[in-house]
Amino acid sequence: MLSRTSLRGLSRAHLRCNLSTRASAILSALEISADTELAGVYHGEWTGTGDILESVCPTTGEVLARVRSASPQELQTALEKSREAYELFRLVPAPRRGEILRQIREALAAKREALGALMSLEMGKIKTEGVGEIQEVVDIADYAVGLSRMMNGRVVASERPGHSIYEVPNPLGVVAVLSAFNFPVAVYGWNLALSLAAGNATLWKPSPSTSLCSIAVTKIVSQVLEQNGLPGAIAGLVTGAKDVGEAVVESQDVDMVSFTGSEAVGRQVGKVVQSRFGKVLLELGGNNASIIMPDADLSLAVSAVFFGAVGTAGQRCTSTRRLYLHRDIAPEFLSQLQSLYASVRPGDPLEPTTLLGPLHTRAAMGVYSSAVDRLRKTGAEILTGGALYEGLASPLDGGNFVMPTIAVPKTVDLADAVWKTETFAPVLCVGVFDELEQAIKWNNGVPQGLSSSLWTRDIRNVGKWIGPVGSDAGIVNVNVGTSGAEIGAAFGGNKSTGWGRESGGDAWKQYVRWSTCTINYSDKAPLAQGVQFSSAA
Ligand code: NAD
Repeated sequence: MLSRTSLRGLSRAHLRCNLSTRASAILSALEISADTELAGVYHGEWTGTGDILESVCPTTGEVLARVRSASPQELQTALEKSREAYELFRLVPAPRRGEILRQIREALAAKREALGALMSLEMGKIKTEGVGEIQEVVDIADYAVGLSRMMNGRVVASERPGHSIYEVPNPLGVVAVLSAFNFPVAVYGWNLALSLAAGNATLWKPSPSTSLCSIAVTKIVSQVLEQNGLPGAIAGLVTGAKDVGEAVVESQDVDMVSFTGSEAVGRQVGKVVQSRFGKVLLELGGNNASIIMPDADLSLAVSAVFFGAVGTAGQRCTSTRRLYLHRDIAPEFLSQLQSLYASVRPGDPLEPTTLLGPLHTRAAMGVYSSAVDRLRKTGAEILTGGALYEGLASPLDGGNFVMPTIAVPKTVDLADAVWKTETFAPVLCVGVFDELEQAIKWNNGVPQGLSSSLWTRDIRNVGKWIGPVGSDAGIVNVNVGTSGAEIGAAFGGNKSTGWGRESGGDAWKQYVRWSTCTINYSDKAPLAQGVQFSSAA
């Protein structure tokens, strides 16, 4: 008789054939051959002799590919090539850099569906979100094309006759982009677009579990660079685990580190870069709240909370993790929300009807279970979910599926881990309030400060929410959920989310080296503030 393990093994082997056909269709659409080990380093040439990274499909557990990461020597070479590439690229006029970005935008848009599918396959997000993520990169590339003609400095009035003062942006150097697994392409896209427009070379260190996405995107970008006679190392790639990340962060050859990931790792990265006086941009964890007032349009608010908490299986930095309901509408709101939760079925993220894909890793299932255990131990009522999915039909039985959970802890004790830590899974904690001020205090009372959302029709509440006594998060929404930002505005969070700003707004100003240049056109050389310093005086 076959053991349970060997039965599982058999069914996996069986599904492997099915999925492999599917996976290979997606990979071949992107000209990636998974028959052999893949080179995970690009610096003008593809290479890779470091440790093997396995790309595992979170939906089925199947190994999709094996990637050779960067050895220490290859990282060094990549850094050197990036520097050389920067020294050339900084001389290319900004609008010409914009034209390169326009071509990159076109090339990525042409592969939008295939890249979106790859993201579903490797990261596990549903396909509409995968395609949406590529669209986000297309959008930021559009934005950066325009920016390439508008990265303006300033002329400042000088107090001295015959003088002018200019604030001048120049290219910065080599920008390393360290990215998280949950937005395996968009975070890189935000950084790449602004950094290239600014005249820098970027070196990408993606999450070790989403190497295929990074290889696919780098292939597309590098082809455009090469077709334009530019060094591919303008947009280099070094796949690898923590050791590669640490070496990149420590390197004096990296002028700016743009890091997206957990608070714990961000804290280390921030210290290391600061200790060598490099530039650092941190986009870290969120612990985002939605507040529902009694005058809110409940049907809109319920749908937004549903998407915020369950979308991407709770694996967005902006996922809704805390829900504060006004006492008057709490029962009705929860009843409507539970109905939506009851409609959710786990599925293959590549299927168009699936709303709930898997968690990205097995380890994440453990994090989910620990969070639910802690909620139970501290007396929380679990309204729905609270368990792993068992007995799913093949091929989903090899996947990391967990039930979206709504929990009502006994109190809103912000010192307790259930409220103050980011659990990167679909777990929503609910608290009931009587006054908006109380809800704002709860919103602000956690270490993180990424996204926040208030639902109300009362303009007085809106004023309070967006003003000095309102939300202290970087994203402060009204009648819009915590998730799903547009590229035109600056994106980022405050407090332990790291204070970084990426994408739109003034974010580009971080990717340049600013100089204040005072020019004297006159025949005299007066000192500022009327200071006299002459031996003849
Ligand atoms: P993570 O912190 O585990 O890893 C992020 C990156 O850091 C990876 O590339 C990893 O290989 C690398 N790394 C790990 N240890 C390192 C070290 N010591 N030195 C240098 N690099 C190191 O994060 P994750 O699990 O991939 O992503 C999930 C986290 O990212 C969540 O906390 C989420 O909220 C956050 N996130 C934030 C944003 C944002 O914009 N604020 C966006 C996406 C994700």
